[in-house]
Amino acid sequence: MNLSVFAYSRRALELVWTTNRTLSLALGLLTVLVGVLPAGIAYVGALIVDAVVHAADVHRQSGVTDYSRVLLYVGLEAALMALTAFAQRGISLAQNLLRAQLGQRVNVMILEKALTLDLSQFEDSEFYDKLARARREASSRPLSLVVRTFSVLQNAVSLISIGGLLIGFSPWAVLLLVLAGLPAFIAEAKFSGAAFKLMRWRAPESRMQMYLESVLAREDYAKEVQLFELGSRLLGRYQDIFRQLYADDRRLAIQRDAWGLSLGLVGTAALYGGYAWIALRTVMGAMTLGQMTMYLMLLRQGQGAVTAALTAVGGMYEDNLYLSNLYEYLEQPVPVRSGHATRGLSPGDGIRFENVSFVYPDAATPALSDVNLHIRPGQSLALVGENGSGKTTMIKLLTRLYNPTGGRILLDGLDLKEWDEGALRRRIGVIFQDFARYQMIVGQNIGAGDVRAFDDESRWRSAAGQGLAADFVEQLPQGYRTQLGKWFKDGRELSGGQWQKIALARAFMRSDADILVLDEPTAAIDAGAEAEVFGHFRELTRNRIAIVISHRFSTVRMTDQILVLEAGHIVERGNHEELMALDGRYAKLFTLQARGYR
Ligand code: ADP
Repeated sequence: MNLSVFAYSRRALELVWTTNRTLSLALGLLTVLVGVLPAGIAYVGALIVDAVVHAADVHRQSGVTDYSRVLLYVGLEAALMALTAFAQRGISLAQNLLRAQLGQRVNVMILEKALTLDLSQFEDSEFYDKLARARREASSRPLSLVVRTFSVLQNAVSLISIGGLLIGFSPWAVLLLVLAGLPAFIAEAKFSGAAFKLMRWRAPESRMQMYLESVLAREDYAKEVQLFELGSRLLGRYQDIFRQLYADDRRLAIQRDAWGLSLGLVGTAALYGGYAWIALRTVMGAMTLGQMTMYLMLLRQGQGAVTAALTAVGGMYEDNLYLSNLYEYLEQPVPVRSGHATRGLSPGDGIRFENVSFVYPDAATPALSDVNLHIRPGQSLALVGENGSGKTTMIKLLTRLYNPTGGRILLDGLDLKEWDEGALRRRIGVIFQDFARYQMIVGQNIGAGDVRAFDDESRWRSAAGQGLAADFVEQLPQGYRTQLGKWFKDGRELSGGQWQKIALARAFMRSDADILVLDEPTAAIDAGAEAEVFGHFRELTRNRIAIVISHRFSTVRMTDQILVLEAGHIVERGNHEELMALDGRYAKLFTLQARGYR
């Protein structure tokens, strides 16, 4: 038998203790109280029977009726029962309060940790799985482990106090009680261990099930799932996984219950052997009726305590699995962000890429190789290239969501790694093609671009004006206070193009940022409007660096510098006229698109 059931009990206790000391202490004391009470009740039970027998004898012999002692003991037992009820209620109250506090605390711990993580960690499926599971059961598991640990403790206290009384009958009886419980205990520990391993091993399947659940039941997938009639297909897959898992579950459950039953029967047989023995000794006059009642009750309660401890141990495996997952997540190392600089060595130098290469974790080929580039404040840059050529990757490196695997990136003459994370992020405003659509009010969707002005209505208005969103926002029923998205009551859904205007407005909120990046956020706006937005954007960002990724040459041609990327390499660079004169890749793509518009 291994002790891994208890592996995380100490940490769970610590967590509960530091969450609320008063409640934890109350829980601990009440648990011990509930542990000793059964033995006390059995003891008083014996006193009652003996007092009754004695009073009856006196009554038979002298005709005097005195049952004051009987009443006293009955009253005492009633008081003990009331105390038990009180203690049990107290335990349940303390548990409920602790559960709420603990759930909140663990959730905050999980979310705080999430804020320190790297983007690459979010993209790591195994890690993401840990995060998802940690969040799902955050409110119940830590307390459950503590409750179960206490339950083992409580039943151990019960068994010790019961044993202390039972030893008066015979030490062998104590041994019998322990031995009767032991086989079932060992079997339970063994099979819980097997269940624990099974759960761990099948994590990928459970994750797939979870994912299918979310695809089948979430609003953002509903459209495609219905139109493509994917529903029954995906549901079928969901059920196949269940069937696969169920076979293992069934085997384990049958084994567990078969062993549990037979070993439990051994225990019951041993206990009834003990009953017979006690009865026989009473007949032979070795003890009073009261004592007999007590010993029988002790045996019965002892068996109950053993069963309760067994159940608790079974559940503790599961709780440990959860907590091991939680702590693995919380202790995941975060990359140290070492930089402290808030100013560059040569302010005004702008951005330089020097021989920058990047390979995604686990990728076979580099997403970028040997990229060189220099942009000064006041210049604009367009990145052009097929899907997957590395444009977004360049932006992710520039914003330090990832670090280059080769070469370096400088801002104002200083390596990005040397920059203070916050100072760097404040200088850059980026809208990605998959920008977030917050299920909040319109104004906050815009205000998200600058946390300091998150709720600043006048800033929303001016940013919306610059992003060309003001017109339609003012048409909305509650203007800037209109709830967006379908998750909440009265939420409005916007069209793709409208969302993009919101995203543009968000970019304009970053009035302090001197580097602005638009990664195809305007794809759903028509080409003419996009060129207008960009022209406008350029005007407002005259002294800043503007980087744009677009497939629209009407926009691209307006920039000072154009980079054509192919499979992570820069294949052409120059302004529109230069590239047209070169008559290479850019010229070909431009002519192709221009023909399409004619
Ligand atoms: P673009 O923006 O030009 O369409 P990306 O920069 O997004 O292209 O992608 C460049 C290459 O890197 C592609 O081959 C893509 O498959 C790969 N890639 C992009 N994001 C990731 C990621 N998170 N993990 C692994 N590979 C990625």
